[in-house]
Amino acid sequence: MTISKPEKLFGIIGFPLGHTMSPVLHNWGFAEQDIKAVYMAWPTEPEKLGDFMSAFKTLPISGLSVTIPHKLSVMNHIDVLTDRAKAVGAVNTLYWDNDQLVGDNTDTAGCSEPLRPHCGKVNRALLLGAGGAARAAIVGLKSLNIKDIFISNRTKSKAESLAEEFDITCVDWDARGDEHYDLVINSTPLGMSGDKQSLNPMIMDKLDQNTIVYDLVYNPLETVLLKEAKSKGCKAISGIEMFLHQGLAQFKIWTGRDLDETKAREMLLKHL
Ligand code: NAP
Repeated sequence: MTISKPEKLFGIIGFPLGHTMSPVLHNWGFAEQDIKAVYMAWPTEPEKLGDFMSAFKTLPISGLSVTIPHKLSVMNHIDVLTDRAKAVGAVNTLYWDNDQLVGDNTDTAGCSEPLRPHCGKVNRALLLGAGGAARAAIVGLKSLNIKDIFISNRTKSKAESLAEEFDITCVDWDARGDEHYDLVINSTPLGMSGDKQSLNPMIMDKLDQNTIVYDLVYNPLETVLLKEAKSKGCKAISGIEMFLHQGLAQFKIWTGRDLDETKAREMLLKHL
Protein backbone atom coordinates (compact mmCIF):
# COMPACT_ATOMS: atom_id res chain seq x y z
CA MET A 1 0.00 0.00 0.00
CA THR A 2 1.28 3.47 -0.86
CA ILE A 3 0.57 6.08 1.79
CA SER A 4 1.46 9.59 0.72
CA LYS A 5 1.18 12.30 3.33
CA PRO A 6 -1.54 10.85 5.64
CA GLU A 7 -3.58 13.56 7.35
CA LYS A 8 -5.44 11.51 9.95
CA LEU A 9 -4.48 8.72 12.33
CA PHE A 10 -6.72 5.97 13.71
CA GLY A 11 -5.98 2.70 15.49
CA ILE A 12 -7.01 -0.16 17.71
CA ILE A 13 -6.02 -1.03 21.28
CA GLY A 14 -6.40 -4.43 22.90
CA PHE A 15 -4.20 -7.17 24.31
CA PRO A 16 -3.10 -9.34 22.71
CA LEU A 17 -3.90 -8.01 19.25
CA GLY A 18 -2.32 -10.92 17.36
CA HIS A 19 -4.30 -11.21 14.15
CA THR A 20 -6.80 -8.36 14.32
CA MET A 21 -8.49 -7.73 10.96
CA SER A 22 -9.44 -4.13 11.84
CA PRO A 23 -6.37 -2.51 10.19
CA VAL A 24 -7.10 -4.51 7.04
CA LEU A 25 -10.70 -3.28 6.90
CA HIS A 26 -10.11 0.38 7.74
CA ASN A 27 -6.97 0.91 5.65
CA TRP A 28 -8.79 -0.70 2.71
CA GLY A 29 -11.73 1.64 3.37
CA PHE A 30 -9.52 4.74 3.44
CA ALA A 31 -7.96 3.72 0.11
CA GLU A 32 -11.40 2.99 -1.40
CA GLN A 33 -12.72 6.39 -0.37
CA ASP A 34 -9.51 8.28 -1.16
CA ILE A 35 -9.19 9.43 2.45
CA LYS A 36 -5.65 10.36 3.51
CA ALA A 37 -5.64 8.40 6.76
CA VAL A 38 -3.83 5.49 8.36
CA TYR A 39 -5.10 2.90 10.88
CA MET A 40 -2.60 1.14 13.14
CA ALA A 41 -2.62 -1.67 15.71
CA TRP A 42 -1.39 -0.66 19.17
CA PRO A 43 -1.17 -3.72 21.47
CA THR A 44 -1.67 -2.25 24.97
CA GLU A 45 -1.30 -4.24 28.17
CA PRO A 46 -4.00 -3.58 30.80
CA GLU A 47 -1.58 -1.82 33.17
CA LYS A 48 -0.54 0.56 30.35
CA LEU A 49 -4.08 1.70 29.46
CA GLY A 50 -3.85 4.93 31.52
CA ASP A 51 -0.55 5.90 29.88
CA PHE A 52 -1.93 5.08 26.45
CA MET A 53 -5.03 7.21 26.99
CA SER A 54 -2.93 10.19 28.14
CA ALA A 55 -0.88 9.87 24.96
CA PHE A 56 -4.05 9.42 22.88
CA LYS A 57 -5.42 12.72 24.20
CA THR A 58 -2.16 14.52 23.41
CA LEU A 59 -1.43 13.11 19.98
CA PRO A 60 -3.52 13.96 16.90
CA ILE A 61 -5.38 10.63 16.86
CA SER A 62 -8.87 11.00 15.38
CA GLY A 63 -10.47 7.75 16.50
CA LEU A 64 -9.85 4.46 18.20
CA SER A 65 -11.26 0.94 18.16
CA VAL A 66 -11.20 -0.75 21.56
CA THR A 67 -11.17 -4.48 22.09
CA ILE A 68 -10.60 -7.06 24.84
CA PRO A 69 -9.58 -6.44 27.65
CA HIS A 70 -10.23 -2.65 27.54
CA LYS A 71 -13.91 -2.36 26.60
CA LEU A 72 -14.97 -1.62 30.18
CA SER A 73 -11.87 0.00 31.68
CA VAL A 74 -11.56 2.56 28.85
CA MET A 75 -14.84 4.11 30.07
CA ASN A 76 -12.83 5.69 32.95
CA HIS A 77 -10.93 7.78 30.40
CA ILE A 78 -13.71 9.32 28.27
CA ASP A 79 -16.01 12.33 28.61
CA VAL A 80 -19.33 11.17 27.13
CA LEU A 81 -21.03 7.79 26.54
CA THR A 82 -23.58 7.34 23.76
CA ASP A 83 -26.92 5.78 24.69
CA ARG A 84 -26.02 2.48 23.04
CA ALA A 85 -22.67 2.33 24.88
CA LYS A 86 -24.57 3.01 28.11
CA ALA A 87 -27.09 0.26 27.25
CA VAL A 88 -24.34 -2.31 26.57
CA GLY A 89 -22.15 -1.10 29.42
CA ALA A 90 -19.06 -1.26 27.19
CA VAL A 91 -17.25 0.79 24.56
CA ASN A 92 -15.59 -0.38 21.33
CA THR A 93 -15.30 2.96 19.47
CA LEU A 94 -13.86 6.34 20.46
CA TYR A 95 -14.18 9.59 18.55
CA TRP A 96 -13.90 13.31 19.20
CA ASP A 97 -16.92 15.59 19.25
CA ASN A 98 -15.18 18.99 19.34
CA ASP A 99 -12.99 18.59 22.44
CA GLN A 100 -15.14 15.89 24.06
CA LEU A 101 -13.97 12.29 23.82
CA VAL A 102 -17.02 10.13 23.08
CA GLY A 103 -17.33 6.38 23.78
CA ASP A 104 -19.69 4.47 21.49
CA ASN A 105 -20.51 0.81 20.83
CA THR A 106 -20.89 -0.58 17.29
CA ASP A 107 -20.87 -4.27 18.39
CA THR A 108 -24.66 -3.90 18.75
CA ALA A 109 -24.98 -3.02 15.05
CA GLY A 110 -22.47 -5.78 14.31
CA CYS A 111 -24.87 -8.24 15.88
CA SER A 112 -28.18 -6.83 14.63
CA GLU A 113 -27.44 -5.80 11.02
CA PRO A 114 -26.80 -9.34 9.66
CA LEU A 115 -30.11 -10.41 11.27
CA ARG A 116 -32.20 -7.47 10.03
CA PRO A 117 -33.25 -9.12 6.71
CA HIS A 118 -34.51 -12.19 8.63
CA CYS A 119 -35.85 -10.73 11.87
CA GLY A 120 -39.50 -10.67 10.75
CA LYS A 121 -39.49 -14.45 11.18
CA VAL A 122 -37.87 -14.39 14.64
CA ASN A 123 -40.02 -14.44 17.75
CA ARG A 124 -37.90 -16.60 20.04
CA ALA A 125 -34.12 -16.12 20.21
CA LEU A 126 -31.66 -18.06 22.36
CA LEU A 127 -28.31 -16.54 23.21
CA LEU A 128 -25.49 -18.84 24.39
CA GLY A 129 -22.91 -17.17 26.65
CA ALA A 130 -23.11 -14.22 29.04
CA GLY A 131 -19.90 -12.26 28.49
CA GLY A 132 -19.17 -8.95 26.75
CA ALA A 133 -20.33 -10.06 23.29
CA ALA A 134 -23.60 -11.34 24.80
CA ARG A 135 -24.35 -7.88 26.26
CA ALA A 136 -23.95 -6.28 22.82
CA ALA A 137 -26.03 -9.08 21.27
CA ILE A 138 -28.91 -8.50 23.70
CA VAL A 139 -29.01 -4.77 22.93
CA GLY A 140 -28.81 -5.61 19.20
CA LEU A 141 -31.68 -8.13 19.47
CA LYS A 142 -33.80 -5.65 21.40
CA SER A 143 -33.21 -3.04 18.69
CA LEU A 144 -34.76 -5.53 16.23
CA ASN A 145 -37.85 -5.80 18.47
CA ILE A 146 -37.42 -9.56 18.93
CA LYS A 147 -40.13 -10.46 21.43
CA ASP A 148 -38.79 -13.35 23.49
CA ILE A 149 -35.07 -13.43 24.22
CA PHE A 150 -33.59 -16.32 26.22
CA ILE A 151 -30.06 -16.61 27.58
CA SER A 152 -28.13 -19.69 28.66
CA ASN A 153 -24.64 -19.81 30.13
CA ARG A 154 -22.32 -22.40 31.67
CA THR A 155 -22.15 -20.27 34.83
CA LYS A 156 -25.84 -19.80 35.55
CA SER A 157 -25.46 -16.82 37.90
CA LYS A 158 -24.06 -14.70 35.03
CA ALA A 159 -27.00 -15.55 32.77
CA GLU A 160 -29.41 -14.81 35.63
CA SER A 161 -27.77 -11.47 36.22
CA LEU A 162 -28.09 -10.45 32.52
CA ALA A 163 -31.64 -11.81 32.41
CA GLU A 164 -32.58 -9.54 35.29
CA GLU A 165 -30.72 -6.49 33.92
CA PHE A 166 -32.23 -6.74 30.42
CA ASP A 167 -35.61 -8.30 31.31
CA ILE A 168 -35.04 -11.51 29.34
CA THR A 169 -35.39 -15.19 30.35
CA CYS A 170 -32.67 -17.46 31.73
CA VAL A 171 -32.52 -21.09 30.54
CA ASP A 172 -30.41 -23.74 32.32
CA TRP A 173 -27.29 -24.65 30.33
CA ASP A 174 -28.33 -28.32 30.39
CA ALA A 175 -31.78 -27.39 29.03
CA ARG A 176 -30.58 -25.18 26.15
CA GLY A 177 -31.54 -27.84 23.58
CA ASP A 178 -34.95 -28.68 25.02
CA GLU A 179 -37.08 -26.25 23.01
CA HIS A 180 -37.34 -24.82 19.51
CA TYR A 181 -35.94 -21.33 18.86
CA ASP A 182 -36.21 -19.28 15.66
CA LEU A 183 -32.72 -17.93 16.26
CA VAL A 184 -29.70 -19.31 18.13
CA ILE A 185 -26.65 -17.07 18.68
CA ASN A 186 -23.36 -18.41 19.99
CA SER A 187 -21.35 -15.88 22.01
CA THR A 188 -19.09 -18.43 23.70
CA PRO A 189 -15.62 -19.29 22.33
CA LEU A 190 -16.68 -22.90 21.70
CA GLY A 191 -15.78 -23.77 18.10
CA MET A 192 -12.88 -21.30 17.87
CA SER A 193 -9.68 -22.51 16.28
CA GLY A 194 -7.35 -24.13 18.80
CA ASP A 195 -8.38 -26.52 21.54
CA LYS A 196 -12.09 -25.52 21.28
CA GLN A 197 -12.44 -25.97 17.51
CA SER A 198 -14.20 -29.36 17.68
CA LEU A 199 -16.73 -28.18 20.30
CA ASN A 200 -20.34 -27.34 19.45
CA PRO A 201 -21.98 -25.05 22.06
CA MET A 202 -25.54 -26.11 21.12
CA ILE A 203 -27.61 -29.28 21.50
CA MET A 204 -28.97 -29.55 17.97
CA ASP A 205 -32.06 -31.82 18.24
CA LYS A 206 -34.76 -29.10 18.03
CA LEU A 207 -33.11 -27.05 15.28
CA ASP A 208 -34.71 -27.26 11.84
CA GLN A 209 -35.02 -25.40 8.55
CA ASN A 210 -36.92 -22.61 10.36
CA THR A 211 -33.98 -21.86 12.64
CA ILE A 212 -31.34 -19.19 12.01
CA VAL A 213 -27.98 -20.00 13.60
CA TYR A 214 -25.57 -17.10 14.05
CA ASP A 215 -22.11 -17.97 15.37
CA LEU A 216 -20.19 -14.90 16.56
CA VAL A 217 -16.97 -16.93 16.28
CA TYR A 218 -15.34 -16.28 12.87
CA ASN A 219 -12.13 -18.25 13.06
CA PRO A 220 -12.74 -20.72 11.47
CA LEU A 221 -15.34 -19.23 9.13
CA GLU A 222 -17.39 -22.43 9.27
CA THR A 223 -17.50 -23.63 12.86
CA VAL A 224 -18.77 -27.05 13.95
CA LEU A 225 -21.99 -25.30 15.02
CA LEU A 226 -22.53 -23.77 11.56
CA LYS A 227 -21.61 -26.98 9.79
CA GLU A 228 -24.12 -29.03 11.80
CA ALA A 229 -26.74 -26.27 11.49
CA LYS A 230 -26.41 -26.32 7.68
CA SER A 231 -26.77 -30.10 7.65
CA LYS A 232 -30.12 -29.66 9.45
CA GLY A 233 -31.26 -27.10 6.87
CA CYS A 234 -30.88 -24.04 9.14
CA LYS A 235 -29.89 -20.61 7.84
CA ALA A 236 -26.25 -20.21 9.01
CA ILE A 237 -24.58 -16.81 9.59
CA SER A 238 -20.85 -16.54 10.29
CA GLY A 239 -19.25 -14.27 12.89
CA ILE A 240 -17.39 -12.50 10.09
CA GLU A 241 -20.70 -10.66 9.54
CA MET A 242 -20.53 -9.21 13.06
CA PHE A 243 -16.94 -8.15 12.53
CA LEU A 244 -17.79 -6.59 9.17
CA HIS A 245 -20.83 -4.66 10.39
CA GLN A 246 -19.24 -3.32 13.58
CA GLY A 247 -16.36 -2.11 11.40
CA LEU A 248 -18.60 -0.51 8.77
CA ALA A 249 -20.43 1.33 11.55
CA GLN A 250 -17.11 2.58 13.00
CA PHE A 251 -15.97 3.75 9.58
CA LYS A 252 -19.21 5.72 9.17
CA ILE A 253 -18.81 7.35 12.60
CA TRP A 254 -15.25 8.47 11.82
CA THR A 255 -15.62 9.52 8.20
CA GLY A 256 -19.35 10.01 7.58
CA ARG A 257 -18.94 7.61 4.62
CA ASP A 258 -20.55 4.24 3.83
CA LEU A 259 -18.28 1.50 2.53
CA ASP A 260 -19.58 -0.97 -0.04
CA GLU A 261 -20.63 -3.93 2.13
CA THR A 262 -20.22 -6.56 -0.59
CA LYS A 263 -16.76 -5.39 -1.61
CA ALA A 264 -15.67 -5.12 2.03
CA ARG A 265 -16.86 -8.69 2.73
CA GLU A 266 -15.04 -10.05 -0.32
CA MET A 267 -11.86 -8.28 0.72
CA LEU A 268 -12.05 -9.65 4.29
CA LEU A 269 -12.78 -13.19 3.10
CA LYS A 270 -9.71 -13.03 0.86
CA HIS A 271 -7.58 -12.06 3.85
CA LEU A 272 -8.93 -14.73 6.22
P1 NAP B 1 -16.19 -13.33 27.38
O1 NAP B 1 -16.66 -12.03 27.94
O2 NAP B 1 -14.95 -13.94 27.91
O3 NAP B 1 -17.42 -14.40 27.57
C1 NAP B 1 -17.25 -15.73 27.19
C2 NAP B 1 -18.53 -16.51 27.47
O4 NAP B 1 -18.34 -17.83 26.97
C3 NAP B 1 -18.86 -16.63 28.94
O5 NAP B 1 -20.25 -16.57 29.10
C4 NAP B 1 -18.34 -18.03 29.29
O6 NAP B 1 -19.08 -18.71 30.28
C5 NAP B 1 -18.57 -18.78 28.00
N1 NAP B 1 -17.61 -19.89 27.90
C6 NAP B 1 -16.26 -19.80 27.86
N2 NAP B 1 -15.72 -21.05 27.79
C7 NAP B 1 -16.76 -21.92 27.80
C8 NAP B 1 -16.86 -23.32 27.75
N3 NAP B 1 -15.75 -24.10 27.69
N4 NAP B 1 -18.10 -23.90 27.78
C9 NAP B 1 -19.20 -23.13 27.85
N5 NAP B 1 -19.18 -21.78 27.91
C10 NAP B 1 -17.97 -21.18 27.87
O7 NAP B 1 -16.00 -13.25 25.81
P2 NAP B 1 -16.79 -12.30 24.79
O8 NAP B 1 -16.11 -11.02 24.64
O9 NAP B 1 -18.24 -12.31 25.17
O10 NAP B 1 -16.57 -13.10 23.42
C11 NAP B 1 -17.13 -14.38 23.23
C12 NAP B 1 -16.83 -14.89 21.84
O11 NAP B 1 -17.52 -14.09 20.89
C13 NAP B 1 -15.35 -14.78 21.47
O12 NAP B 1 -14.69 -15.99 21.73
C14 NAP B 1 -15.36 -14.43 20.01
O13 NAP B 1 -15.13 -15.61 19.25
C15 NAP B 1 -16.74 -13.94 19.73
N6 NAP B 1 -16.74 -12.52 19.32
C16 NAP B 1 -16.86 -12.26 18.00
C17 NAP B 1 -16.87 -10.95 17.56
C18 NAP B 1 -17.03 -10.67 16.10
O14 NAP B 1 -16.75 -9.55 15.65
N7 NAP B 1 -17.48 -11.63 15.32
C19 NAP B 1 -16.77 -9.90 18.48
C20 NAP B 1 -16.64 -10.21 19.85
C21 NAP B 1 -16.63 -11.53 20.26
P3 NAP B 1 -18.72 -18.59 31.86
O15 NAP B 1 -19.49 -17.38 32.32
O16 NAP B 1 -19.23 -19.86 32.42
O17 NAP B 1 -17.23 -18.45 31.96
